[in-house]
Amino acid sequence: MKIFRNNAELMQGIQNLNCKIGFVPTMGALHSGHISLFKQSLLETDKTIGSIFVNPKQFSPSEDLNRYPKNLNTDINQLKDLGVDYLFVPSIDDIYPDNFEEIDYISDLHGILEGSFRPSHFNGVVQVVYRLLKLVHPDYLYLGKKDAQQLKIISKMIDHYKMPIKVKSCEIIRDQSGLALSSRNTYLSTQEKLQASTIYKSLCYARNHFDNGNRSSSEIIKTFEKNLNDQLVKNIDYVSIVDETTFMITNGNIENNALLLVAVKVGATRLIDNVELLV
Ligand code: AMP
Repeated sequence: MKIFRNNAELMQGIQNLNCKIGFVPTMGALHSGHISLFKQSLLETDKTIGSIFVNPKQFSPSEDLNRYPKNLNTDINQLKDLGVDYLFVPSIDDIYPDNFEEIDYISDLHGILEGSFRPSHFNGVVQVVYRLLKLVHPDYLYLGKKDAQQLKIISKMIDHYKMPIKVKSCEIIRDQSGLALSSRNTYLSTQEKLQASTIYKSLCYARNHFDNGNRSSSEIIKTFEKNLNDQLVKNIDYVSIVDETTFMITNGNIENNALLLVAVKVGATRLIDNVELLV
């Protein structure tokens, strides 16, 4: 695996690649969720490029930028073992040089759900992803369904700028308890992990309720809340149902394929998860 430590190395290294390129952007501290994206890209494209960059623009001052887990050597070894072709590990100055100009793309989804709790988050995400896509020029972009709103916003941004890139959405990878893998899970104590495992279990109860014919969004949400660990119920940021295509919040009956999305604080750690509700 070739490692590019700056833009010049990246440009030189990929300039003559005349093949289908798959790109997997990450913030490192890789787990099996990230690895599944790389595996899919390796299967479906000719060359796979990953990136590791902890993007300061998507963290608010009160968030965990400074303690965000870092494991660069382990990450590199994992990707080498997988057979990933290239890894881009840019510096802050590579991504945000002095003359950097932000794009002014703001989707109608920037301010809802995650965006209402993390107001500058999606602006930070679109800035970094746009910049990375302009540097890497992939044909395919691999993103996880775990970050469903991010996936939708990036897809909309790619459409907006008519970028010739196909977004590939990858399934959520979970641990044995059902907890969605996240770099932030390393912050959880054993007891918090146990509490956190009730998030997916409760999503499944709610989905079962839906699969058994209940189409009322408020009933489905109640089922989630009833099954969640008591400590966590007090710490729900949101539990909402959105139309899977438009991502608009569904308040009444669920008529189309939808997503049940949740964000919950477990101790000091904020976790997100979701399941599909397929009509
Ligand atoms: P991050 O490093 O958190 O920015 O995540 C990089 C990519 O990995 C994003 O597209 C995430 O949606 C995806 N991802 C993170 N966790 C998981 C997971 N448990 N299953 C599948 N994809 C994931």
